[in-house]
Amino acid sequence: MNIDFKELANKYQTPYYVYDFDHITSQYEELKGAFKARKSILAYAVKANSNLSVIKHLVELGAGADCVSIGEVKRALKVGVAPYKIIFSGVGKIDSEIKEALGLGILMINVESAAELDRVENIAKELEVIARISIRVNPNIDPQTHPYISTGLHENKFGVDIDTAKRMYIQCKNSKNLEPTGIHCHIGSQLTQLEPIRESVKIVSDLVRNLAAIKIDLSFFDVGGGLGIVYNDEKLIDTNEYAQAILECLFGLDITIVCEPGRFLVGNSGVFVSKVLYEKVNGNKRFVIVDGAMNDLIRPALYDAYHKVEVLNDNKELSDCNLVGPVCESGDFFAKNINLPQTQHNDLVAIYSAGAYCFTMASNYNTRNKVAEIAVENGQDRLIRRRETFEDLIAHEEEFLK
Ligand SMILES: *Cc1c(COP(=O)(O)O)cnc(C)c1O
Repeated sequence: MNIDFKELANKYQTPYYVYDFDHITSQYEELKGAFKARKSILAYAVKANSNLSVIKHLVELGAGADCVSIGEVKRALKVGVAPYKIIFSGVGKIDSEIKEALGLGILMINVESAAELDRVENIAKELEVIARISIRVNPNIDPQTHPYISTGLHENKFGVDIDTAKRMYIQCKNSKNLEPTGIHCHIGSQLTQLEPIRESVKIVSDLVRNLAAIKIDLSFFDVGGGLGIVYNDEKLIDTNEYAQAILECLFGLDITIVCEPGRFLVGNSGVFVSKVLYEKVNGNKRFVIVDGAMNDLIRPALYDAYHKVEVLNDNKELSDCNLVGPVCESGDFFAKNINLPQTQHNDLVAIYSAGAYCFTMASNYNTRNKVAEIAVENGQDRLIRRRETFEDLIAHEEEFLK
């Protein structure tokens, strides 16, 4: 990544997010290439980073979209994702969302419970349409990741067990308004072990064969997302081995592979850049206080996640400190007990691996404006979301003042 953070800070002020679009391209091409032996769709998990320009960049590369709300579906459509490459997932779809999705002709609704299948069937009947259905199977596999981002165990709220899935497919087959189209599993995020993926794809592909035996033929096998990235010193799953393991499990099945990467595509494209405000020492604890905060980037506070941090000055004298923001919470930190150089007011601090689940989780807590987002592509920078203003923040309240 060859980005001049200081120049961007002068031009756009701080804090800001910057995304290297060329890195997104190479991540996309690497994964797409790994599946070249088969028909495949990479459906970008929009929740990782839903900036319209980011989605548009991926659409231009050929990506579809995995969405978890009708809002995300509309973002995808807005920037030109073909409806036949859009999947709508999520455990708690609202009636109005299902209705709208059925009207938009998307590829499939990824159903996560028997009760939801009934709702979709009823709504499709009302609208006199046929709903293309994929069922999210929970294979009860431990993905060996952080418990907050594990989804493939029965103790997690996601998907249905194999037997329930089978009954649901039979319901689809017998319904005039449902069409069994795909099957889905997604066991967790930031996965760094191949074995749990192989095991779950194996379990789900056995179900596909079982279903074929009773004349239920599915067209799409959705392996979910979850491929991990390097935050610190993780050893990653090789994308070719990943694709190979999946292809082996699907041997003999005429089925299109769908993969839903989020973090893998955008995570390491992004950097969050803040400016040092102050240093202070409480007792013998040193704090470096920057202008960015947990409302901008919550992963350290939420998951105790590690993000690599770099102070952009030439000072070689390191000492232990906590890197914190201005928000009134003790959970407002980016890093604890790390060695950083002595800083001066206005020194820049880069927080890496900030392209996924960072801006999309930002809030306006403490009446702080959401920050600017910048894209860099072919050495050129451009604004892709302007910094919010105070007027933006009060817009929905002001008219109700008495
Ligand atoms: C969040 C999510 C993804 C993407 O996960 P990553 O770890 O970012 O790749 C894919 N599919 C579904 C259903 C998800 O909920």
